[in-house]
Amino acid sequence: MKDVGEQLAEKLKKRNWNKNYRQLIRDAFEDEEVKNFIRDNQAGLSQEDIAKSASKVYEFVSVKNKIKRGEETLAPGYDPQLTLNNHLIDVTYVPSEALIIQKKRQAIYNRVHSINMPKDIRDAELADYDLEGRELAAEAAGRFIVEYTNAPKKFHRAMYLQGSFGVGKTYLLGAIANGLAEEGVTSTLLHFPSFAVEMKNSIGSNGTMKMVDEVKRTPVLMLDDIGADQLSSWIRDDILGVILQYRMQEELPTFFSSNLDMIQLEKQYLTTNNRGEAEPLKAKRIMERIRFLAEEFRIVGRNRRQFKK
Ligand code: ADP
Ligand code: MG
Repeated sequence: MKDVGEQLAEKLKKRNWNKNYRQLIRDAFEDEEVKNFIRDNQAGLSQEDIAKSASKVYEFVSVKNKIKRGEETLAPGYDPQLTLNNHLIDVTYVPSEALIIQKKRQAIYNRVHSINMPKDIRDAELADYDLEGRELAAEAAGRFIVEYTNAPKKFHRAMYLQGSFGVGKTYLLGAIANGLAEEGVTSTLLHFPSFAVEMKNSIGSNGTMKMVDEVKRTPVLMLDDIGADQLSSWIRDDILGVILQYRMQEELPTFFSSNLDMIQLEKQYLTTNNRGEAEPLKAKRIMERIRFLAEEFRIVGRNRRQFKK
């Protein structure tokens, strides 16, 4: 933050002949914090040292007052602090409490990797979750966060959230991801139908397998809205199958949300591919992995989207 001080010193130099300058300096030395600092450090400060430090003292007080008045400073988010530097008073800039909180918040956000997810889940919280019709799911979600963070190396069965459109499945996934993020756990939430389209569009490019690789290795994975699109054999076996196989082997928690229950998912979604061919054995194999990874929870309730503008 040295350049901030230098910039201010420049400004001060230019103002040096301002007739108010001496008064400003005098006022600055009247500041309680400045007085205390000089008193606490009097052993290392002669009168001459103090006089030489005038512009720093002025800088400290003026920046401090600017912050108090809510005005923008040269280094927003940083508070000035008086320090003793080689027998002179100096100003250093330290992150303010607000900045530290904001950075923590940002770090939490950064732990939730969302791919094609709606923005409003960013602030989804389990504490705000309306429990009606979803007591069991909410309770299991809370339990998962506690148990996983207590023993992240152990296998924890995640949740398969089933319910009709708008009951809050995606919101609950977001709330779990945010709850985990607060405990330092990284997760990836992806809207499965959009992900499948992206995979198809990128067939053959390096990006496809890199993306699949990232998704399969993420500590906690959430596949949102599985079953909402038409599945091709390729997506089922080479994308979804590969991801789930890896996660089962490595015992990595994997959540799902779907309009379909597990039986419907197997029969309606996984069995018949987009060319109309029935492949029940392949569907069964995927379903075994899903059942291993997640326990089914049914969420009932009104469609919350209808009540929103
Ligand atoms: P689904 O994924 O089941 O279709 P969503 O999770 O998208 O439903 O929820 C529908 C809407 O209702 C969203 O705008 C979401 O933010 C809101 N919502 C859902 N559950 C809650 C809740 N418990 N508290 C507050 N808002 C909610
Ligand atoms: Mg949803």
